[in-house]
Amino acid sequence: MVVRAFVLATGSSGNAVLVEAAGVRVLVDAGVGPRQAEERLAALGERLLPRGVDAIVATHEHGDHFGHAEKLARALEAPLYLHPGIAAPRVRRKCHVREFVPGASFRVGGLEVSTAVVPHDAPQVAIRIASDDHALGIATDIGHVTHELVDLLGACDAAIVEANHCSELLAFGPYPPRVQARIAGHLGHLSNAQCAELASRLVGSRIGKLWLGHLSRTNNTPERALTTVRAAARRIAVEVLPHGESAALEIRRVRAYQLALGF
Ligand SMILES: [Zn+2]
Ligand SMILES: [Zn+2]
Repeated sequence: MVVRAFVLATGSSGNAVLVEAAGVRVLVDAGVGPRQAEERLAALGERLLPRGVDAIVATHEHGDHFGHAEKLARALEAPLYLHPGIAAPRVRRKCHVREFVPGASFRVGGLEVSTAVVPHDAPQVAIRIASDDHALGIATDIGHVTHELVDLLGACDAAIVEANHCSELLAFGPYPPRVQARIAGHLGHLSNAQCAELASRLVGSRIGKLWLGHLSRTNNTPERALTTVRAAARRIAVEVLPHGESAALEIRRVRAYQLALGF
């Protein structure tokens, strides 16, 4: 069953990706409100309501991912999947919350949602959503690349990954030193070079396509991100997600599973 993804927003002003397959819809992150989500989906020829979604899965509690969780969960009457690292007492009181364990998998209808713990300055997970035969990874807000992340994404056909900043633009840009240190730090965001490292570690895995997201408007350009990551992503196609625009993605099997045939 083909997996489709509708990127409603990506970046520090909001993150939300609607994933649809096998008749099931999962919204990953709630960084836009119900009206904006409906408008952005309509721009892609789809509707959010009346059908709604079967689950909203939150990666972490930063506002650009979680700021509209309560509104969305209530407007869509959808269960909100949270891990214990997301405190959000008010949201937990007001919404229908289901708990998941970071690093473990759970099912939403016919889809399997797997998670891997990711280093960031709030408890954070990367997500893999799989139908019977296709899988999409979503991994942003990553301080540095880990084995767990490479393993999770290497089992996907395609992934949205973070290429947040160019280290030079960040260092010589307008942000105060404290903020620069946070972004570039071990628990901050992936630079283009770190995203390239991730891509190089995925060469030879199942993955055939990377979409670069969560780009900083101030400290990166789509061209810099593309050039840096493409140079490392041998035999993996790389594209940049447009900032501030919605995008419809189709996840196809590019790479057949490696078959250990004896000839
Ligand atoms: Zn973020
Ligand atoms: Zn974050």
